[in-house]
Amino acid sequence: MLKALLKSQERSMIHVQQTKDDQGVHVYDIIRDFMMNAPDNTLRNETGESAWDEPLVGFSRGDDPLYRQFKNEIGEFFWTPAEIFRITFNAEPSALTVISWVLPQTKATRADNRKAKTYPSERWSRSRLYGEQANVALAQHVVARLREAGIRAVAPEHSPLWQWQMSEHFGIASNWSNRHAAYAAGLGTFGLCDGLITARGKAMRCGSVVAGIDIQPTPRLYSNHRAYCLFYAQNGKCGKCIPRCPAGALSRKGHDKLKCRNYLFDVLADYAQSHYGFSSYGCGLCQTGVPCEFRIPLKMEEAPSSQAG
Ligand code: SF4
Ligand code: SF4
Repeated sequence: MLKALLKSQERSMIHVQQTKDDQGVHVYDIIRDFMMNAPDNTLRNETGESAWDEPLVGFSRGDDPLYRQFKNEIGEFFWTPAEIFRITFNAEPSALTVISWVLPQTKATRADNRKAKTYPSERWSRSRLYGEQANVALAQHVVARLREAGIRAVAPEHSPLWQWQMSEHFGIASNWSNRHAAYAAGLGTFGLCDGLITARGKAMRCGSVVAGIDIQPTPRLYSNHRAYCLFYAQNGKCGKCIPRCPAGALSRKGHDKLKCRNYLFDVLADYAQSHYGFSSYGCGLCQTGVPCEFRIPLKMEEAPSSQAG
């Protein structure tokens, strides 16, 4: 079953290049060219190495019923694509697409963090700070390029109206989720730890832009939102992310967002400042040293060795 899903996902990865949708190809090129060539994609370390590998890109329709479902489940404050478009432009969209991307961590960053037991590696901490700055710059670049072409576009996560709220069912939650948009755009499914397992694994960050443009959606080649996680696919046989968490925020019941958040803000921010000389609250221990680190896991396997990936 998972093998078939992996093959499907590989086909999905080349969907953008194969599609006859010229606008989709153009947007894909904007994202890829920026990440592969812009000086922003850097860890700002001595070697000046890249923060991110080549991005994955997917598209979902702005009126995809999934967005209404997210709103119903998360809370009334959660934006549908049409809502953030209306709030931003005070206009009704005639066409609407959510553009999503996944930025995979590099092999070197994953290998370093795989060795970490309590605190994140310096590379991972750099990717959380400087890599995320590149991710923000990418979103701004995509918006700017589309607006130059006369297309209204907004990155919801960077809207001045973006904020955290309390969801009755999910605790603290924001009014837009890049991971949910990536799921809607066929880029991956959620793991036990809430991370999104993509064709390049769970060690990644993602982003999205809502645009008044009509692009063919990327097929969602999975049957449910947990399809790629071994814990759900194989009757609880994995759970290898649970002991990776130094904060006790993971269990067979899932992800305790509050414990995780407290660890990031109360412990890791100070650690990065005192050990690495900059402020960063990245962790990512549950994203590395696990079977879903850099791929869709096919079967129960040991955590990858330091040579893997
Ligand atoms: S480590 Fe295992 S249980 Fe945890 S998210 Fe990955 S596949 Fe799922
Ligand atoms: S990010 Fe860190 S603290 Fe949060 S669940 Fe993962 S391992 Fe635990």
